[in-house]
Amino acid sequence: DLPPIDGDFYNLDLKLTPEQRELQLKVRNFMEDEIRPLVNDYWKKDQFPFEIIDKFKKMNIVGVPYEGYGCPNLPFLMEGIIAQEIARVDVSTSTFFGVHSGLAMGSIYLCGSEEQKQEWLPKMQKMEKIGAFGLTEPNVGSGVAGGLETTCKFDGENWVLNGQKKWIGNATFADVTIIWARDLDSNQVKGFLVKKENPGFETEKIQDKMALRIVQNAIITLTDCKVPESDRLQNANSFKDTANVLRMTRAGVAWQAVGCARGAYESALKYTKKREQFGRPIASYQLVQNHLVEMLSNLTSMQTLCFRLSELQDQGLLKDEHASLAKVYCSLRMRDTVSQAREVMGGNGILLEYDVARFVADAEAIYSYEGTKEINSLIVGRAITGYSAFVS
Ligand code: FAD
Repeated sequence: DLPPIDGDFYNLDLKLTPEQRELQLKVRNFMEDEIRPLVNDYWKKDQFPFEIIDKFKKMNIVGVPYEGYGCPNLPFLMEGIIAQEIARVDVSTSTFFGVHSGLAMGSIYLCGSEEQKQEWLPKMQKMEKIGAFGLTEPNVGSGVAGGLETTCKFDGENWVLNGQKKWIGNATFADVTIIWARDLDSNQVKGFLVKKENPGFETEKIQDKMALRIVQNAIITLTDCKVPESDRLQNANSFKDTANVLRMTRAGVAWQAVGCARGAYESALKYTKKREQFGRPIASYQLVQNHLVEMLSNLTSMQTLCFRLSELQDQGLLKDEHASLAKVYCSLRMRDTVSQAREVMGGNGILLEYDVARFVADAEAIYSYEGTKEINSLIVGRAITGYSAFVS
């Protein structure tokens, strides 16, 4: 049996099979023993700890839900549980992992030809090759569906890509970046596998982020970047195909929010039991307990929602609006939870060494990426009213 864990109040972990619980515990122990000791230092230095790639290789948890290509082919629920366990210790690490295993591999899995899957997925599963996902641009964030400025054009021999991408996680070192671009001829969005050594592909690290400092986010500049037809994602024919990838990964981001809230709550609970003021642990005061209970309520509602979300995903019933509602709700509850965690820690709540400050900062990135609160709310609003409020 798993040891009792403070942040699983309704014993949702008991819904897992013994093998699934074993994997969950393996990931939890891995994160505690191998990753937690590294993260504050690298966060402070604003650097990526490349040694974690070798550590992750031994875990065999990349590409969890995919079938074939050396992937574990476990339920989506396990992908969510793993995202939670990673984010519970460090949100940056879960973002690095999610970009590689979810966004990049997911694009190839859902939109690639058989040859492209055979070429990339087994190596990416083993983390011999690392992936990135380039959709957002300096001028186009929420409006990517209709507004991509990065273009592609077939010149009779190659596809020629021009434009810029912004915020692209892992892209400074990734072996392959999925670049989404608008075809100047058909006006449809297409996806490309762009290798890091490809002429015309340049990255520049975004400096001085106040969140997710371990993740290396890049501005990518594409200047007459030539990509052969064999590296165009063969089953990505319009933005609908991009949206299919995002639906899958947004569910994972909701689970990351659970992990972030859980990490902050568990740190805060431990702290309030130890910290004494007026001769008693601060956990014994009613107002502090109220904070703890509100945090736990948030966490429990997020967890139960995400368990159902993953069930829908495993049953093939997940719709865009399900993933969006979970992302909105969990991001909001996460933000409230980390802020209450920081509150009960007093001054130490802003010190990196107590971990909660890092969760507070990193929560802000989860809050914005893979669709802001407004955009995901509009996706749900469109589903329940029949009116699309995205554009006037
Ligand atoms: P904007 O689109 O400019 O939005 C600004 C504000 O306006 C928001 O509050 C938004 O909700 C609101 N708004 C916009 N349109 C509407 C509307 N119609 N109605 C109401 N409100 C509206 N992208 C990638 O492609 N790959 C990555 O790996 C990646 N990683 C990221 C990592 C981090 C740390 C961050 C911060 C971002 C990352 N992103 C990545 C980009 C991310 O998905 C975008 O930041 C996000 O979609 C929001 O876009 P934006 O920042 O341009 O904000």
